[in-house]
Amino acid sequence: MSITESNSTDHSNIIDIAIIGGGPSGMAAAISAKKYLRTLHAGNRQVVLFERNDRIGKKLLMTGNGRCNLTNLDTDRMHFHGSNAGFSEKILDQFPPTAIISFFEEIGVVCTEEEDKKIFPLSLHAGSVLDSLRLALIDLEVQVRTGAKVSGISKDSEGYTLIFADGQKFIAKAVIVAAGGKSAPSTGSDGEGYELLRTFSHKLSQPLPSIVQLKTASEFCKPLSGNKLFGTATLIIDGVTIRKEEGDILFTDYGLSGPPILQLSGFVSRALYQKSDSTNPPDIFIHIDFLPMYSSEKVLSMLYERRAAFAGRRLEDFLTGLFHKRLSVGLLRQVTQKSLSAHVSSLSDKETDYLAQICKALPIHVNGTMPFANAQTTAGGIATDHFDACTLSSSYEKGLYACGEILDVDGDCGGFNLQWAWASGFAAGESAAKYVTQENNV
Ligand SMILES: Cc1cc2nc3c(=O)[nH]c(=O)nc-3n(C[C@H](O)[C@H](O)[C@H](O)COP(=O)(O)OP(=O)(O)OC[C@H]3O[C@@H](n4cnc5c(N)ncnc54)[C@H](O)[C@@H]3O)c2cc1C
Repeated sequence: MSITESNSTDHSNIIDIAIIGGGPSGMAAAISAKKYLRTLHAGNRQVVLFERNDRIGKKLLMTGNGRCNLTNLDTDRMHFHGSNAGFSEKILDQFPPTAIISFFEEIGVVCTEEEDKKIFPLSLHAGSVLDSLRLALIDLEVQVRTGAKVSGISKDSEGYTLIFADGQKFIAKAVIVAAGGKSAPSTGSDGEGYELLRTFSHKLSQPLPSIVQLKTASEFCKPLSGNKLFGTATLIIDGVTIRKEEGDILFTDYGLSGPPILQLSGFVSRALYQKSDSTNPPDIFIHIDFLPMYSSEKVLSMLYERRAAFAGRRLEDFLTGLFHKRLSVGLLRQVTQKSLSAHVSSLSDKETDYLAQICKALPIHVNGTMPFANAQTTAGGIATDHFDACTLSSSYEKGLYACGEILDVDGDCGGFNLQWAWASGFAAGESAAKYVTQENNV
């Protein structure tokens, strides 16, 4: 274990607040705890951030393709999910996106708004966000210990004893568990952190990959592999329309990717898990509309007009100029067995009608998701019903807190997961600071 960044000279193993996990939520918790202690004239209290990796914020560097989509100005609660509906609301009200932006401006990160209310650093560089957070931790004299994997916690009258993988021990009055979920496990959050909270009776809702690519059973995707096509994707599970998303849909060897697909993936993961024990798997379809700018009637009339205008062309050229060649061939293959060198005029009314139908809603059967290694977040996690929705304190143990992805709260793609990480980190940090400055708190 090494101390990487600190101005503090007191390296005793008895501290006030221990934060487990140097990701976004842990860094936010450390900063807010120390800031709050300073307002209480208790800035000499020790706040220590423990990170198992040799540096903090490894996953943060990957966010937004390295550009870090750090929050989103859209405050609609439909962007947040979890088994305990509404749990995240009070925290998100307390620390809305505007408060997150102000915080970043305070620590030197100038922010800019892009499409769909997404907020990025003006530098468009996740590294500059991480550097600014590191500088804030140094300014506040938060001790950062890297290479410090917490492998167990226990509690007695002195407080919490943290046991590290190398055998060292620390005693803390309060502990904030910010060890992340299971997404992108190579960054350090591989789900082992759940055990730290399970020690204190907290339950785990099945963690599932979310914001992840989908696997499909359909033959349609593979020949189009590598193509990015604009359209809408509508998720239909057991005949019920769940949600519709628009944007670039990416076709791959295994199935589908791209922003609209990633956005729908959490619902797919949950549906597959809910029926994983059943002999009746859920019927999951993505309907792709390749022409969302036109009504079904308009598409039908367009195809009939093209059939009349290009009657003598080869069938394989029927849609040339409307779609990418591979998509044209893929769609025609769905509607006719005829040779594609036959004349366009050979396409029957029935085939033309069906072609119009699948241009607007091509059903693609989904049979799985890619694994956690590909996922941007975790749906599920430590159940929130035994945490206070304002303070994030455990109802089982005084002085125990959790924040970030480790909890059963996940957000949509677009800055909502980091919004939750910052907001929940701030709430947990402030609460822990209040707790350690109270009398008789153990
Ligand atoms: C490729 C990718 C792109 C993403 N892009 C975005 C985006 O643009 N916008 C957005 O909002 N969200 C994005 N996310 C999601 C976002 O990164 C997460 O929601 C966020 O990092 C969660 O923060 P966290 O602090 O809760 O967990 P993490 O970032 O996972 O941090 C947890 C930390 O705890 C450490 N740790 C775990 N166990 C222990 C232990 N026992 N002892 C000590 N340390 C431990 C881990 O090493 C890790 O550093 C993206 C995710 C990925 C994978």
